[in-house]
Amino acid sequence: MANLKKDSKVYDAIIVGSGAGGGTAAYVLTQAGANCLMLEAGDWFDTATQSKWGSWFYNAPHRAQVPPNTIFDAYMAAAGGWQVPGEPYTNAPGSDFKWFRSRMLGGRTNSWGRISLRFGPYDFKPYSRDGKGFDWPISYEDVAPYYDKVEELIGVFGSIENIENLPNGKFLPPPKPRCYELVVQKACEKLGIPCIPSRLAILTRPHNGRLHCHYVCQCGRGCPMSSNFSTPTVMLPPALETKKLEIRCGAMVREVLVGPDGLAAGVSYIDKKTRQEVQARGKIIVLAASACETARLLLNSRSSRHPDGLGNSSGIVGRYLMDNVGTHVGGFLPAMMDLPPHDCDGVGGMHLYMPWWNHQKQFRHELPFSRGYHIEFGGGRHMPVVNTFQGTERFVGGGYGADFKRAARKLYGASMFLACRGEMIPNDDCYCEIDKNVVDEWGIPVLKFHWKWSDDELQMAKHSQETFREIIETAGGQVTKRAGADENWGISRGGAIIHEVGTTRMGNDRRTSVVNPHCQAWDCKNLFIADGGPMVSNPDKNVTLTLMAVAWRTSDYIADQVKKLNV
Ligand SMILES: Cc1cc2nc3c(=O)[nH]c(=O)nc-3n(C[C@H](O)[C@H](O)[C@H](O)COP(=O)(O)OP(=O)(O)OC[C@H]3O[C@@H](n4cnc5c(N)ncnc54)[C@H](O)[C@@H]3O)c2cc1C
Ligand code: SF4
Repeated sequence: MANLKKDSKVYDAIIVGSGAGGGTAAYVLTQAGANCLMLEAGDWFDTATQSKWGSWFYNAPHRAQVPPNTIFDAYMAAAGGWQVPGEPYTNAPGSDFKWFRSRMLGGRTNSWGRISLRFGPYDFKPYSRDGKGFDWPISYEDVAPYYDKVEELIGVFGSIENIENLPNGKFLPPPKPRCYELVVQKACEKLGIPCIPSRLAILTRPHNGRLHCHYVCQCGRGCPMSSNFSTPTVMLPPALETKKLEIRCGAMVREVLVGPDGLAAGVSYIDKKTRQEVQARGKIIVLAASACETARLLLNSRSSRHPDGLGNSSGIVGRYLMDNVGTHVGGFLPAMMDLPPHDCDGVGGMHLYMPWWNHQKQFRHELPFSRGYHIEFGGGRHMPVVNTFQGTERFVGGGYGADFKRAARKLYGASMFLACRGEMIPNDDCYCEIDKNVVDEWGIPVLKFHWKWSDDELQMAKHSQETFREIIETAGGQVTKRAGADENWGISRGGAIIHEVGTTRMGNDRRTSVVNPHCQAWDCKNLFIADGGPMVSNPDKNVTLTLMAVAWRTSDYIADQVKKLNV
């Protein structure tokens, strides 16, 4: 390691990470007039010129087989994935946690599914409802104005439905359902399961100077027209326009530095190009490196004032890690066979979905699990890749040549899947800590994960499997892939749903939480957290919209406290 370099400039705020949380903090704090330094471990990403949008599958390596390190698509804007070269993590014996990271400007907002659902009033007070998990110290009413602000800025389509515990939002019009989605919707109607327009951060009409979607279904690659939400296309440009934001990419933050008064004085990072260690100074530090990375940073920031890691006097940093429950079932819909060629592309994601519909049954204790799940589904005629017709031989009785091609065309678009995204209740067995024996390429100690689902989640997976079979059969289809008790109902590995949150939870009591209700560290008043770490529960509603709404609220609070000279 070359010599230490110390920056002389003192920024009003240093923001670590440029993803959903960091992007929100940069947007709000620069508008409030703060001079900010953003440190991002990944490279610069210019979506307009670097996105692989429009690239043909037949030009992709391995005939467009999805690489094992990623999901969705061979051209996904992921810069990393399940493994990041040089940055390992470990699992404790018996645990099998997966961690998806994107090392690039914008983090995982470049490739996320953009499903944007508000948490409902029940979701902020789950303990009061069923005696499990914990209540948030804030309520839906506290976050609602910030949901409005985020939705108005980023653009989310959806429909006003007035469904229990699924608040309406400020929506753009939703796209029309696809053909197979209508078939599934009809089956859901028969079963009394709501199937409504989905809610995605994609523009169905021009919005804030951005073009509307062209319905090419490649959102995971990053949208060069800025028609979907990512921080490099939506939040960082206006923040940069204020001339109050400096972004340094390739800056891998190692720890938060603390002054003799115990307050945060800056951060120390590795400049990945020169491998030099640099110290940057700021009056306020906002950590938004993603829930687990932020926990890692805090645990690695040990000093005489904070011997167990910064912000960790409660011992809670890293604890109560949550993901969502996932399980899925594959199906075959004969109604979709032999259709004339038609365009199934649409936006990069589902046009319909099924919100949780059994709150009242749970109130009456009629289900063997306490929390809800929503159903996501997919199918139809998307651009085929090398394995699109895998399994077709089962339905056409095998075959070769022209006959097989004819049969494959007949079946093309008739396969579908249903997937559960469900709430996990935080438990003592799910957490991350520093692995004392392993460091990454930069010499920074890495995380070790511990994971165990509880019976609540397993029962939810079982219920999902049974419900999905019912939906497929009611639609006149056949189940092609499902999981039974011997496979724990196909429940996903921890982390696999990529909604990991909860590692620096908020609370009213400093003995049992890391941050206060404004995401300000109890132990260090000029340190704030703006990612999913402070989340107290993890309802079925994908986390990112709430993460951004809470980060906006935190950033407003920072600006207000600075004005009042409190920090
Ligand atoms: C394929 C996929 C689909 C998804 N679909 C959805 C969805 O439909 N809906 C939904 O709500 N959520 C979805 N998510 C999850 C969503 O992307 C995350 O919840 C969200 O991006 C988290 O925001 P964040 O700011 O906490 O972290 P990130 O977006 O991961 O950003 C963190 C940033 O910090 C940087 N960083 C990390 N450590 C350091 C360090 N030490 N120093 C400097 N920089 C650092 C990283 O490089 C990264 O750029 C999906 C994720 C993926 C990958
Ligand atoms: S589907 Fe629409 S928003 Fe998504 S990448 Fe294509 S044009 Fe952009």
